[in-house]
Formats: sequence, structure tokens, C-alpha cells
Amino acid sequence: MHVPGDDPILLSIAVLAQTVAHVLGWISTLQTQTYRRKFFQAYIDEKDAKEMVAYLANIDPLTKSLTRRQFMNIAESEFRRFQRYRRPLSILILDADRFKRINDTYGHHAGDLALRSLSLVAMEQKRAQDTFGRLGGEEFGLLMPETTLDNAVVVAERIRHTWEASPVNLDGELIRSTMSIGAAEALSEDRSLEDILRRADRMLYKAKESGRNRVMAE
Ligand code: GH3
Ligand code: MG
Ligand code: MG
Repeated sequence: MHVPGDDPILLSIAVLAQTVAHVLGWISTLQTQTYRRKFFQAYIDEKDAKEMVAYLANIDPLTKSLTRRQFMNIAESEFRRFQRYRRPLSILILDADRFKRINDTYGHHAGDLALRSLSLVAMEQKRAQDTFGRLGGEEFGLLMPETTLDNAVVVAERIRHTWEASPVNLDGELIRSTMSIGAAEALSEDRSLEDILRRADRMLYKAKESGRNRVMAE
């Protein structure tokens, strides 16, 4: 009796059809994978671009600390939290002492180097929950949530000490520098962030007046 499966021509056609189906399936899977990879790459590229834009907008290129604008944004939101929950909130304003002299003596490039390492020292010494930003020139701010004035002074002294003991190495030459720090804590009568910043600024001025390389708190 003749069974269709026995027909060598039919058998060859069936094997060929199966192979073609396999190859088509394989191509289709490959195309889907390529499409997915492209889609995913586009997604990653867009995400990277967005992160890069945010990074450029929020990070000061010289000192790698936050820009003044970003620092103020975070400080404003911490101040609103203070107004709502009355948790302690302190701010430091740090200013390099006689910085003009460093530029004049060693050049602007050395000044830049010193500013970068000052910023690095402060960022290493601050706690993870604190926000550090460049307010302008050789002046920086450190925002410390959940921190009373006494504790803020402890952190300020640690930063001041570490900076004093960290000379900047300029081609073998050691450049020493100090900083003055004004500290202030948010008070219940404060109406805006500016009120705290004004007190910290006044304390910084007092530290400068009293001989520099010190922390003053109000
Ligand atoms: P004081 O102790 O009273 O703060 O003295 P000072 O010299 O630090 O203060 P002053 O405000 O007179 O001068 C600030 C100097 O900081 C002058 C300016 O050239 C320098 N400076 C500000 N920004 C930069 C910067 O990005 N790079 C460099 N190299 N210097 C800067
Ligand atoms: Mg200065
Ligand atoms: Mg200054």
C-alpha cells in the first residue's frame, strides 16, 4: 500500500517547507530583537541626555558643587519643611580667606585649583543629608537639615580645620589657605530663607572682622 509519507518528493517538500518556516521565524525574532535593542538604546540615549542637561544646569563646572540656583531651590524647600514641621535647620556660609592674595601670588589657575580642593574638602566632611553649593566666587553654602546651631558649629569647625590642614599642591609648591564661616539656625519668627542667610552672612562678616580662620554663630 502507498503511504503519502513514503513519497520522497512529498517528504522533500515538507522538509523544505519546515526549513523555510524555521528560517523565517529566526529572521523575525532577529528583527524583533534588533528593533527592541534600537528602541532601548534610544530610550537610554534620551535618558542620558536629560540627565546630562540636569547635571550641567545644577553642577558648578569648576568646583563640582551645586550651583547657587540649585542650592537655593533645595534651601527654599527645606525652609518650607521647617515652617511646616519645625524641625531644626541650620545654614553655614563659608568664604575663603584672603583669596585674592592667592590669585595674585600664584596665578588664577592656582586659585581655581584651590577653590576646587576647598569644595572637595567641604563635600567630604559634610554629612550625606547636607547640601553644599557655590554661592558665588569663593563663597559657599552648606544647608544642614535636622541640625541645631551647636551641631552645625561642630561640622563647621571640622571643615575649617580640615581645610587649614590640606595645603594645595601646585607643582610641588604647597599653597596654604584658610576659610571663615558664618553659621545661623532657622528661628520660629523667620519669614523667609533670606532671614537665615542674612544672619549667617552677618556672622561671616564678624568672623572676618575678628581675624578670619574662625567660625561665628548666631
Ligand atoms: P576675604 O578674606 O575678606 O574674603 O578676602 P578675599 O580676598 O577672599 O575677598 P575678596 O572679595 O576681596 O576677593 C575674592 C577673590 O576671589 C577675588 C576673586 O578674583 C577670587 N575669585 C572668585 N572666584 C574665583 C574663581 O572662580 N577662580 C579664582 N581663581 N578666583 C576667584
Ligand atoms: Mg574671601
Ligand atoms: Mg567672598
